[in-house]
Amino acid sequence: MTAADVPSFDVLVAGGGMVGASFACALARLPLRVAVVEAFPFNHSVQPSFDERTTALSRGSQRILSTLGIWEQVAGEAQAIRRIHVSEKSRFGSAVITAREQGLDALGYVVANRVLGAALWDLMQASPRIELYSPAQAVEVSQNSQSIEVTLTGNGAQRLSGRLLVIAEGARSGLRDALGIDATHKSYDQAAIVGTVEVSMPGDGSAAYERFTADGPLALLPVGASRYAFVLARSAEQTESLLALDDRAFRDLLQQTAGFRLGRFGRLGKRAAYPLALTQADQVHTDRAVVIGNAAHGLHPVAGQGYNLGLRDAATLAEVLADGVHASSFDAGAHKLLENFAAWRSSDHRNVVAFTDGLVRLFDLPGTVTGMLRGAALSAFDVVPGAKSELARHTMGLAGRLTRLARGLPL
Ligand SMILES: Cc1cc2nc3c(=O)[nH]c(=O)nc-3n(C[C@H](O)[C@H](O)[C@H](O)COP(=O)(O)OP(=O)(O)OC[C@H]3O[C@@H](n4cnc5c(N)ncnc54)[C@H](O)[C@@H]3O)c2cc1C
Repeated sequence: MTAADVPSFDVLVAGGGMVGASFACALARLPLRVAVVEAFPFNHSVQPSFDERTTALSRGSQRILSTLGIWEQVAGEAQAIRRIHVSEKSRFGSAVITAREQGLDALGYVVANRVLGAALWDLMQASPRIELYSPAQAVEVSQNSQSIEVTLTGNGAQRLSGRLLVIAEGARSGLRDALGIDATHKSYDQAAIVGTVEVSMPGDGSAAYERFTADGPLALLPVGASRYAFVLARSAEQTESLLALDDRAFRDLLQQTAGFRLGRFGRLGKRAAYPLALTQADQVHTDRAVVIGNAAHGLHPVAGQGYNLGLRDAATLAEVLADGVHASSFDAGAHKLLENFAAWRSSDHRNVVAFTDGLVRLFDLPGTVTGMLRGAALSAFDVVPGAKSELARHTMGLAGRLTRLARGLPL
């Protein structure tokens, strides 16, 4: 293939999962030629991003998806969260955050990853400026001063050239490593076991629960009439035996961990496990390449922040590109532009990583005294004026400098 035969784009996106596809959708209305390379189409049985999981979307994420025109397709199948109840098993003290006290109709929404995937891929497929290469894997990368090139496998060995490469390959990103962007991985020695369970007392089905236990946290998210999705974090060495338990034994364990606020647990859905680690890229860009989503920061799911943080990466990068796109000298991979992106994102990355990692460590500390202090802290948090609003603003994705998409303004 000669250089003239290599298709060229403004932006190449490696990875069309939750964050890569969201980013491509954010570019759909800009006058940019975009290529998305994804190893597994959204409806493939082993698609690793749009799988059986559900995602708790922050209020800010819902606004971004709404501005992009994706929310309309998802809303009918999304469950509103109007109350979040945080407690620790066997301790006094709990905290409740409600949408009403924040002056909102919902704190966030729960959506099945497959539903979100279908909506994102529909939009990409309908966008004349977005070209999808899937199934195909981006395996090699090379740069020069004017462009960056990736080689694909799985779709015939093919090369694509771009002014900017956006790496959204997830935490184990090969292109990030190939470009010399170092990343640290810290295993939590835990896995998240996820699935769904029927409950006998769902209330109005709009409450989410986070329960910390000595063995790891449990999150329960409403997903429909009388059904909750669970995310149970347990030590890695227990994972196999927990997955091997029959439904009855697993349900008993879940019930024991959750207590009876939702009544009796009934039928269980399929279970799956995800090893948990903290991944942090040392930098978010190098010449003509930028990392977003889990490729930049892979988090423990305890606070449900991973996709929300990645979507803010996507919305910010799209805005930085949109701001320059009409200039005659526009170059999507220009150093200055990538610096602007990095500067805008750094405090959000730092805060969310520290908050999520801190939460895992806080509730991992053994001992009666630390346990009592946590109980007291939860109770105090519940009554100290302003504390809840401040935390709520952050976890709802409404703190700091908001992108135009998060403010409901198109790019
Ligand atoms: C149990 C669990 C529960 C979670 N719950 C929540 C939640 O409630 N709220 C929330 O905000 N976040 C949650 N998260 C985090 C969220 O799922 C991730 O942050 C999100 O999936 C990251 O998306 P991503 O696109 O960056 O990476 P990924 O989801 O890993 O997607 C990467 C994509 O890139 C593709 N790919 C990889 N390499 C290549 C290549 N070389 N060429 C082509 N394609 C490639 C893959 O096939 C995949 O589609 C949860 C995570 C877990 C594990």
